[in-house]
Amino acid sequence: MSDYDVMIIGAGSAGYSAAIYATRFGMKALLLGKEQGGQANEAFSVENYPGFNGISGMELMKKFRNQAEELGADMEAMGQVEKIGKQGKEFIVTAGEKKYKGKAVIIATGSRKRKLGITGEKELAGKGVAYCATCDAMFFRDKTLAVIGGGDSAVKSAILLTEYAKKVYIVYRKGRENMRAMPSWLKRMEENKKIERIFHSSPKKINGKEKVESITFEKKGKPFDLKVDGVFIEIGSVPESGLARELGVGLTEKGRIKVKDDMSTNVEGLFAAGDVTSGSNEFEQIITAASEGAIAAESAYKYITGSQWGS
Ligand code: NDP
Repeated sequence: MSDYDVMIIGAGSAGYSAAIYATRFGMKALLLGKEQGGQANEAFSVENYPGFNGISGMELMKKFRNQAEELGADMEAMGQVEKIGKQGKEFIVTAGEKKYKGKAVIIATGSRKRKLGITGEKELAGKGVAYCATCDAMFFRDKTLAVIGGGDSAVKSAILLTEYAKKVYIVYRKGRENMRAMPSWLKRMEENKKIERIFHSSPKKINGKEKVESITFEKKGKPFDLKVDGVFIEIGSVPESGLARELGVGLTEKGRIKVKDDMSTNVEGLFAAGDVTSGSNEFEQIITAASEGAIAAESAYKYITGSQWGS
């Protein structure tokens, strides 16, 4: 007999939302999460989630979590899932010493930060090389920093870092016109006197012995060094789809889980939601992850009950 109707893997916006909807559908739900809150935790200010005109990502995720818990979802706080298996129609999820059985699974494992893969990055990680401005900004008071990237994450990080650092360079490999960040954030970055923008420059090497001292970039084929005390690498993310791949779930070229409109996958009873999927036009937002979580929960409910509720 199954322990759960639905087992949700991943405790970010998509997973919490799936847990909220699953319990509201009367399903017995388990939520297993490695990092409570997921990537939204790193947003120092969320200004586009309806109903909250400026809230920290961590605070918003706490509200998601509390709501899921109050509605009765079982939470395994640090449940690092190692395997999702299937025996007949039943799923078996292995997390450490424990095994859980369930009728349906929703994978909401999100994504992890992409690495540059250049010399010095690994060696100086934690010694000036950083990936989360919200977590580490306070360690760089009155320092000179570089942020690498041209999307929302890079621009928002650069703005946050100016609250502590004395100077922040944002270094982008293409031109201003190619920057992917939302215009409202670009405007705030451009108005910020502590931020200097450097375009058409690709990072080649991070230099330093005990800590970061400089970064070597290449601009139009010529190398140049930028003296900094730290560097924040904000160059996007890679979907955490390894568990799905092992189970034979279909992935896109970019490694995202292929989902249909109802968030189902090619494996019967297995659904997915959030940044790990090909859904929502790959627009990675808290609201899109949450809505995919809701749809996945409804689809799981229809699957396990054979009902057509809501259609
Ligand atoms: P993006 O994929 O949007 O941007 C990544 C940036 O890194 C691009 O500018 C890319 O350059 C650059 N880049 C990638 N690889 C390298 C490399 N090897 N060397 C140098 N530069 C590189 O990632 P984000 O993390 O910024 O955003 C991901 C998603 O999350 C987006 O959908 C974004 O909107 C969303 N998000 C939303 C926020 C919000 O407040 N609403 C906050 C943060 C993220 P190029 O442009 O040349 O490809």
